[in-house]
Amino acid sequence: MATMESLIGLVNRIQRACTALGDYGGGDNAFSSLWDALPTVAVVGGQSSGKSSVLESIVGRDFLPRGSGIVTRRPLVLQLQRTEDGQQDYAEFGHLPRRRFTDFAMVRKEIQDETDRITGKTKQISPVPIHLSIYSPYVVNLTLIDLPGLTKVAVEGQPESVVEDIENMVRSYVEKPNCIILAISPANQDIATSDAIKLAREVDAAGERTFGVLTKLDLMDKGTNALDVLEGRSYRLQQPWVGIVNRSQADINKNVDMIAARRKEREYFATSPDYGHLASKMGSEYLARLLSKHLESVIKARIPSITSLINKSIEELESEMDLLGRPIAVDAGAQLYTILELCRAFDKIFKEHLDGGRPGGDQIYGVFDNKLPAALKKLPFDRHLSIQNVRKVVSEADGYQPHLIAPEQGYRRLIEGALNYFRGPAEASADAVHFVLKELVRRSIAECQELKRFPSLQSTIAGAANEALERFRENGKKTVIRLVDMESSYLTVDFFRRLPQEVEKAGNVAGANAAATTNVDRYAEGHFRRIGSNVSSYVNMVSETLKNTIPKAVVYCQVREAKLSLLNHFYTQIGKKEGKQLSELLDEDPALMEKRQQCAKRLELYKKARDEIDSVSWAR
Ligand code: GDP
Ligand code: MG
Repeated sequence: MATMESLIGLVNRIQRACTALGDYGGGDNAFSSLWDALPTVAVVGGQSSGKSSVLESIVGRDFLPRGSGIVTRRPLVLQLQRTEDGQQDYAEFGHLPRRRFTDFAMVRKEIQDETDRITGKTKQISPVPIHLSIYSPYVVNLTLIDLPGLTKVAVEGQPESVVEDIENMVRSYVEKPNCIILAISPANQDIATSDAIKLAREVDAAGERTFGVLTKLDLMDKGTNALDVLEGRSYRLQQPWVGIVNRSQADINKNVDMIAARRKEREYFATSPDYGHLASKMGSEYLARLLSKHLESVIKARIPSITSLINKSIEELESEMDLLGRPIAVDAGAQLYTILELCRAFDKIFKEHLDGGRPGGDQIYGVFDNKLPAALKKLPFDRHLSIQNVRKVVSEADGYQPHLIAPEQGYRRLIEGALNYFRGPAEASADAVHFVLKELVRRSIAECQELKRFPSLQSTIAGAANEALERFRENGKKTVIRLVDMESSYLTVDFFRRLPQEVEKAGNVAGANAAATTNVDRYAEGHFRRIGSNVSSYVNMVSETLKNTIPKAVVYCQVREAKLSLLNHFYTQIGKKEGKQLSELLDEDPALMEKRQQCAKRLELYKKARDEIDSVSWAR
């Protein structure tokens, strides 16, 4: 049965999952971080304030790298797990899951090596944490994050920016409201100048989540003590101050072990004339218990909001995954199926544009209702049927023998010539509708959500659709030209039969004088005008007919075909493609693929976290 002790273990496991999936506090994550929602204890302090010593004392083992300069260059997430009495203590790293370290000198070496692995030997710093779990009967359940020491100057080989980089990294941890700050200050230095307190005051002005730790009490000048600090008079915190006496450098050099050091520390407080009355609330063992208890209660209080954050995030991520599209199948059959599905999704949108529901189809009607009639109206029939031209055409048709009655040949030539003009608007209608359809293809592809992730398939579908439209256009043009040619090939006989017959008046033949000449001219003018106006009415009649039949032909050949068989040709081709060609078509936009992977990773993390929380049965 899970007890309160498993709470810290629970958070440990979630933290490990976070790091494995790239979510760690202080990292510059674009997402809201689960890590940030978890309570943690971060150790902060200036260089040589005693951070490492405090951690080792809490663990009861020497395991931290030592040296001058900035030794801690990556955050160290130190997870302490209490085991049964009498068990051998051992350590495990997050990056070496199956290796148990029982030799703590090797732990120290591995921390050094693993630090260099990310930062290089250049002594750079990195926000990617190292995870170290220590299982021991001498520890309490507790997770601490050791951070690089705050420093004033860069040492040789380090860039000047390192001072600021460290401060920024440390701040990115301690500014999170869920971070418990373990602020380490040496007692042999004025508390007012403590780096740790300076930073803690900045991010936690009320002192609600700051634990003040005072090290090096034994190094204070004779005759002075730290009671003003330890009793909260120098700098007030909601939590009690804890005084510590770690091993001195001389102790370390003499290999005084941790157990002996803890005993010496207990004796120091028990026998101290200054701190004797505080003895039960001083020392590293007390500090560890205090932190453990506090961390547990904070976690307990946070669990409901963590759970709801996790559930909310899972919901958000699931719907983002739906939006991004699920991963693609690998076998050819499933890929072909996916491609056909995507084509159908596009085709459905395209049809909606034509049939209504989506805008655009109305532009086709606009071609028939507006453009075509306007183009027909603009045809230069006035010029073609001007008296001069009628005269010219009729005379040419007559040859040396002018016609005696209605000029059959002249009419035919005039009409033929006029009908030729209809070719232009007829073809233009086919073109105009073609461009509308092309634009609708473009829009449908852009609007097809499912296609978004497949740029290659997008352009292939666009290419196939446009190719088909081009064929439909050719056919549409041929058909409308045929309509015009049909009008030329057989004239409506009735139309001419119904025309009032011209009464042939020869005029006064006997009076062959000047007056007679003008008479003949007047006769000829009226004659040609009548011919012109007859042809004009005929052409108008044809124009009315074409105004109706051209749209029918264009719709039949282009719009209807686009609706019925836009991708048919493509479908027969794609059926013959090999697996490799298919997967090329499903080649995704790399940015999108990356985004989906990120999303999937985070989803995995949150689900894992939810399972972890579900697996703990709460004993309250
Ligand atoms: P860090 O840089 O903050 O990690 O500091 P360390 O833990 O490495 O300590 C720096 C030096 O101070 C080491 O030589 C320690 O032995 C010494 N030191 C730390 N705490 C104490 C203490 O409480 N008393 C004494 N005498 N020396 C201490
Ligand atoms: Mg240190």
